[in-house]
Amino acid sequence: MLWSASTISAVSSDTEPTVVVQFDAGKYIFNAGENTGRAWLQGRSKWAKAKGIFLTQNGTQRGSGLAGLTMFLADAGVKSLDVVGPEGVSHFLASMRTYLWRGGINVKVAEAQATLTETEKAKPTPIFKDSKVNIYAIPLFASSSETSAQNSGVNVGEKRKRDASPDSTTKRPHTERGGTDGSNLTSRIASPDFTPLALTGEHAVEWRKLTVENMFPATTAPPPPTTDPSTKQKKKGKNKAADPDTKAVAATPTPAPAPEEPQKHLGRKDVLAHRDRLLPPFQSSVSRPSLGYVVVGPAVRGKFDVAKANELGVPKGPIRGKLTAGQDVTFEVDDGNGGKVQKTVHPHQVVGPSDPPHVVMILDVPSVDHIPSLVSAFNDSPFYSSLRSQNETHQKEHVVHAVFHILGNDVLENKTYRSFMDGFSTTTHHIVSSRQHAPDPATFTSAAVNQLSLGQLDSQMFPPHHYRLESLNVVSGASSLPSNVHPFRTGLVVDVRPARAPALDEAIAKYDRFHPVAAGDTALVIPEDVKKAFEEAQAVATGLPVKLLDSPSATENALVIPLGTSSALPSKYRNVSSTFIQRQEGNILLDCGEGTWGQLCRAFGRDDTSGGVWEVLRNLKCIYISHIHGDHHIGLAKVLAMRKQLSPPPQHPLYLVGTRPVHLYIREQSDIEDLGVDDPSGNGVVSILSDSLNFRGPETQRYSRVQQRDREEWMGHSRSVALKRQLCAALGLKNFTTVDVDHRTRCYGLVLDYPDGGRIVFSGDTQPTPNLVKAGQNATLLIHEATMGDDQEELAAQKAHSTIGQALAIGKEMNARNIMLTHFSARYPKMPPAVLQMNDADPNTTIVLAFDHAQVRIADMPKLKAYLPALEKFFGDVASVEEDAEEAAVIEVDTGVPHAG
Ligand SMILES: [Zn+2]
Repeated sequence: MLWSASTISAVSSDTEPTVVVQFDAGKYIFNAGENTGRAWLQGRSKWAKAKGIFLTQNGTQRGSGLAGLTMFLADAGVKSLDVVGPEGVSHFLASMRTYLWRGGINVKVAEAQATLTETEKAKPTPIFKDSKVNIYAIPLFASSSETSAQNSGVNVGEKRKRDASPDSTTKRPHTERGGTDGSNLTSRIASPDFTPLALTGEHAVEWRKLTVENMFPATTAPPPPTTDPSTKQKKKGKNKAADPDTKAVAATPTPAPAPEEPQKHLGRKDVLAHRDRLLPPFQSSVSRPSLGYVVVGPAVRGKFDVAKANELGVPKGPIRGKLTAGQDVTFEVDDGNGGKVQKTVHPHQVVGPSDPPHVVMILDVPSVDHIPSLVSAFNDSPFYSSLRSQNETHQKEHVVHAVFHILGNDVLENKTYRSFMDGFSTTTHHIVSSRQHAPDPATFTSAAVNQLSLGQLDSQMFPPHHYRLESLNVVSGASSLPSNVHPFRTGLVVDVRPARAPALDEAIAKYDRFHPVAAGDTALVIPEDVKKAFEEAQAVATGLPVKLLDSPSATENALVIPLGTSSALPSKYRNVSSTFIQRQEGNILLDCGEGTWGQLCRAFGRDDTSGGVWEVLRNLKCIYISHIHGDHHIGLAKVLAMRKQLSPPPQHPLYLVGTRPVHLYIREQSDIEDLGVDDPSGNGVVSILSDSLNFRGPETQRYSRVQQRDREEWMGHSRSVALKRQLCAALGLKNFTTVDVDHRTRCYGLVLDYPDGGRIVFSGDTQPTPNLVKAGQNATLLIHEATMGDDQEELAAQKAHSTIGQALAIGKEMNARNIMLTHFSARYPKMPPAVLQMNDADPNTTIVLAFDHAQVRIADMPKLKAYLPALEKFFGDVASVEEDAEEAAVIEVDTGVPHAG
């Protein structure tokens, strides 16, 4: 039974620690911070055998990648997935309901208890169990409530609680069924003034459970036929019907209705009708919940000694199997005198000693305030204390081979924690992650080395990614740490059985062309013909009329940095959607796909405590989310969470402009983690509905007015209209107008008008629409999606996207001076086809392509245009050196079912 634990990503500017425990038959993923999916793609691992995702914490730090990873796994053919996490993980998952769904996957959710009960201490039960592993969850929490409440915002639930019914309590009452008022959920839903917000107790738990089942309809059997056959399966939702072959359907039946209730199935229809309303509020019962996981592998039976068995006369056949299974056997043998005699053989006579189960732990200790709960869990439970023991008898029962420590600030320096580590067997390996003590190497090395090469073309436009090879802080008293301490690095493989010391996966180094150059070990190699193309392009750029570049208007002086230019899925050189616009008056993010924060960090650096990315974040005044497709907004919560860490806090609000589901998801995730929503200072997140700022041109097609539900002072139409003036003042804008575009879901483009007459237009995701042409006339810059090549017009229409040609036609009709194409299909990981000719055809318009991390003033777009032939040469030559399994992996999961967008 071979198994191992490896690290998919380590703490860095763009990733958080993720560990995967793997057997031939299954993989168990511990944590899904941002970019887990992208890091996994880069690591060339296979997806299909994932069994579960285990979060040590809910929220962005450990779970921002959960939605993306779940969709990756579903699209890679995973049929059944367990999602395990601390109290609140159902709420966390349910908050993703408007953008995370898959028809063919059965997702079961397990929430760990908030504290260890006496029963659990005496005899822990696994939170997950299959034929290979037993996984136990150890609840941890911050013991000093003053500091923790400040840091974590666990009390934000209070804000939403006031909307709930008065019987709301923080502790979940454990009634068998029914809410705290004794009514049943079915009849409450039928009531005309029903609102999920008022649900408490078991009803709230049930509501979240139903919500998650709705996201993954294969999780439950389809609802039984209702009395009215016309309502059966009539819903024309995006969700495919449950796969009838999914065996797991039987594994998680919907709870049987109470006997006295009518036989009405509470299901998809009931929940879907309320999908656009806030979930019941959630509040954790402990401060800053976190988990430790104990993964216990199988015991391996000793070897059956055939020669010995023959010698003892044990007959061949099933009787030998009994011995292997540990049973005594009795059989007849000749007594030497022609008679028979009974003979008994014990297993130990023919079976070698068995090998005890090997164990791996993943401990997440976010702060020194969590140490007491960890120490007492190990002291109070005989089982856990036997795992942390130098007693030989204990070590014969379990072999704790590796402990992954994911540590917050100051934990590694803490004396109590050091002695906790010392308590393990001397043969246990400790793999330690501590941001304070970690270097910050590049994560996406292919993209990083490309940027280095492109720096030779234009070092201002393509500055190197920020990275750091050394740690900022040295571990104090490193010599007093246990001898088997290893830094938690990406690509570490720890073989658990057979047990070996941690070692770096050689493939990581093999495909890494960045760090040898960064460390000065090898020179950056650029082929001669590419160098020549660079020189030619530079000559063209130098020949451009000086005035064009050197006396820009204020609008033209805006810096545009595409942070993610891929549609649906990240690829090797392109992350998912986001464009950053930097102006002195205030910065704007246009969409915010997963990993946007990391991309910002790589662009500006996060080592300075006040400069770099922190300064950029401080001056971020608006995030615009065009629509609720995962590749456009999943990174939003992470950016908001990081903004909360600014010290001192910003002195102005952050305007979040988006559709209703965007605001719902942020508000619901705020129950888990403080994202700055409803900040009493007034400088937190201010929600504005895109729908309320839309363009009213003649004969423009418009979406119907969005329905406001419940009592939502925070998101009314008139409030949004009123806030527009403040938003414009904050950003130095004359006008901020959203445009109804044409996509598979409600989606808005954006027109930004500046006092100098400049205009920036952003398409969002759309097929060609006259609305955008009308609203964006004479744009200084049009940023338009161009998902498909011109040969895929049909597919583009089917998915409500634009082709390159269509996007350019819109730009021409709009009379746009500069057009930047972005949002390319994973089919074009490097450069989409045939743009160069189009540029030649129209010298009055500057057509450029968006590249991740290019930093381009609008005034410099002609320069970028001049570079395009060189870039084409570069991506054709240099980047093709990298043709390897990575791209195969991208194509493998791009099964035609879009990841999101
Ligand atoms: Zn989309």
